[in-house]
Amino acid sequence: MGEPPHPAPRPGFSTRQLHAGQEAADLHAARATPIYLTAGFVFDDFDHAHARFAGEDDGFTYTRHGNPTCSAVERRLAALESGTEAILVASGQAAVASTLLGILTAGDHLVCSSSIYEGTRGLLVEQLARFGVGVTFVAEPADPASWAAAVTPATRAFFAESIPNPKNDVLDIAAVAAVAHAHGAPLIVDNTLATPYLVRPLEHGADIVVHSASKFLAGHGAVLGGFIVAGDAFDWGNGAFPHLSTVRGADGRTQVERHGPYRALIGYLRDLVIPRFGSVPSPLHAFLIEQGLETLSLRVQRQSENALAIARWLRARPEVLQVDYAGLPDSPHHVTARRYLEHGYGSVFAFTLAGGEAAARRFHDAVAVFTRMTHLGDVRSLILHPATTTHVLRTADELAESGIWPGLLRVSIGIEHLDDLIEDLARGLAAVRDGAALDVAVRDEAVCHGAGQSGALRRPVIAEAS
Ligand SMILES: *Cc1c(COP(=O)(O)O)cnc(C)c1O
Repeated sequence: MGEPPHPAPRPGFSTRQLHAGQEAADLHAARATPIYLTAGFVFDDFDHAHARFAGEDDGFTYTRHGNPTCSAVERRLAALESGTEAILVASGQAAVASTLLGILTAGDHLVCSSSIYEGTRGLLVEQLARFGVGVTFVAEPADPASWAAAVTPATRAFFAESIPNPKNDVLDIAAVAAVAHAHGAPLIVDNTLATPYLVRPLEHGADIVVHSASKFLAGHGAVLGGFIVAGDAFDWGNGAFPHLSTVRGADGRTQVERHGPYRALIGYLRDLVIPRFGSVPSPLHAFLIEQGLETLSLRVQRQSENALAIARWLRARPEVLQVDYAGLPDSPHHVTARRYLEHGYGSVFAFTLAGGEAAARRFHDAVAVFTRMTHLGDVRSLILHPATTTHVLRTADELAESGIWPGLLRVSIGIEHLDDLIEDLARGLAAVRDGAALDVAVRDEAVCHGAGQSGALRRPVIAEAS
């Protein structure tokens, strides 16, 4: 699965991930982007200081408002996502929160996929709700009519993820974008799990892309960061966003007048939202994220290949009830995945063990190559039991509705040797079988002693998936 030919004059993805956005030359002609670990930037004189603040000179002032190391990685990611401009923030959560804070006002409403990262869900139902922003979660994200049915007169944005976790229900970006645009609302897509190597949502009609750079983009599980990337097609002067189109700033201009109708939001986020709410990244983290970006395609390619092989292997094991990987031809999301994902199907997915939570616990604690950790997109393979960790605050009904069964485990496949990963998963399954045998022995003993555990089963229970 090599890279397809690319239309001139744009360089290919792997060239852009190395070269895009790099400044022509710094003072010492450093090849790597220098780390400008500085709070502020020196003004030559009185007039120079004024020019910087008045916007007549676009140099840097203070790192909360911008920094050359951060700018370099912003240009790099914008080039990879086919965006006009990107902003680096301190975390993925900051990217989601800042974007929504820049678009929504008290009384506004958001239409959001129900297959959504738990942190985003919490932000919406616990925090933005407190500021008077309403949200409706779309029951059937794969059905455009379900999105249309959730719209109210107050709807000002749509939000979804390109590859939601853990169920891999890949988003039909163009279809949802069409519904959003028919209602004058932008579509925001969290592209964390896909990365721009697999899909660039802006090319399919999305208006804003957000990322947790802490995952695949940085790639090594060492730093946190987030990105907001803007497209160039949504008209922020359409009247639905008065803070962008009618409210005048100190210079007497609206955001639309200042930045143009298509850049108004990203300009507003950069000038006023992010510096004011303060979710600023460290230039050191910007450097590390840029280092990660330089090998993004290689890692995601290998991770996707490993993941597909592992998903197929798990699919064939009798202890496994279900594998939720969109790369498998029998996945209900495979057709959509094939339409959108270019070089592979990503590395994060879930599988459900027969035998419920007890089996999941044994598997989880038996693996030795996989790391037990809540993170994803790492070069290392990771495993997690969502029902008792990330989704522990959900009720049993909510978990069942989302298909997060007690026997479901989420994996994020790394770049280790495939044979070692398969051997490790086989170790997990052996522990499940040993545990099931042990359960039977305990049950038989209990029966012998008259404890009468009539509900116990000889074979693992297939209780949780249809
Ligand atoms: C991790 C994650 C986030 C939050 O990112 P942080 O960098 O941890 O703040 C948001 N969306 C998705 C899909 C994620 O996986």
